[in-house]
Amino acid sequence: MTSPTPIQLHDPAAGLAAVRLEIADACLAARRPTGDVTLVAVSKTFGVEAIAPVIAAGQRVFGENRVQEAFSKWPALRDRHPGLELHLIGPLQSNKAREAIGLFDAIHSIDRPSICAAVAKEIQRQGRSPVLFVEVNTGAEPQKAGVLPQDADAFVAACRDGYGLTIAGLMCIPPVDEPPAPHFALTAKIAARNGLRLLSMGMSADFPLAIRFGATHVRVGSAIFGHRPG
Ligand SMILES: *Cc1c(COP(=O)(O)O)cnc(C)c1O
Repeated sequence: MTSPTPIQLHDPAAGLAAVRLEIADACLAARRPTGDVTLVAVSKTFGVEAIAPVIAAGQRVFGENRVQEAFSKWPALRDRHPGLELHLIGPLQSNKAREAIGLFDAIHSIDRPSICAAVAKEIQRQGRSPVLFVEVNTGAEPQKAGVLPQDADAFVAACRDGYGLTIAGLMCIPPVDEPPAPHFALTAKIAARNGLRLLSMGMSADFPLAIRFGATHVRVGSAIFGHRPG
């Protein structure tokens, strides 16, 4: 006997509620106030029909990894829902800096001088100042964006002194095939010695652990929205 394949109906509002609980638990375990940790709901590849219930459930901070995709979804949503905050968590190209500074409230992927120059110019021109994170390639993976850990101090200083940028924190994406804890610890250590307050680290698989290591921003996609197609 054959039966039809059941359709998996994922409920993003339920995913959001579960993630919020896990954040609260992790904060409690780490003796940190829940308000220390900002949940960035990563909505890349998902459309308005998946995002709307998450906004309705009170989520206000969202992350996208592509400038173009963000432009296709968020201006309309923002018109309808004042107070939304949009974070760019993916790589930024210099030729997209104008659009990115116009749209995003935070950029997690500052990682090279050409981006610093383009971002500094647009901040001046547009009078908008998104919160900036330097991305650190803690695993020194050749295919991955981010500054190498040994270059991070000099790069943060160059952002400030060379380009007049205020860097608020660091971001990392640990290698998929390694335990993330040492990468979170290293990122926290580099941030501390540079006087940087914010730490963007932790994704669906490891955000409670990242909170233990001091994450102030966790970037959670599939645990809220379900598996991404492709
Ligand atoms: C997609 C993405 C995430 C979210 O990943 P999940 O495993 O779905 O939570 C976080 N950070 C970055 C940089 C991403 O591109």
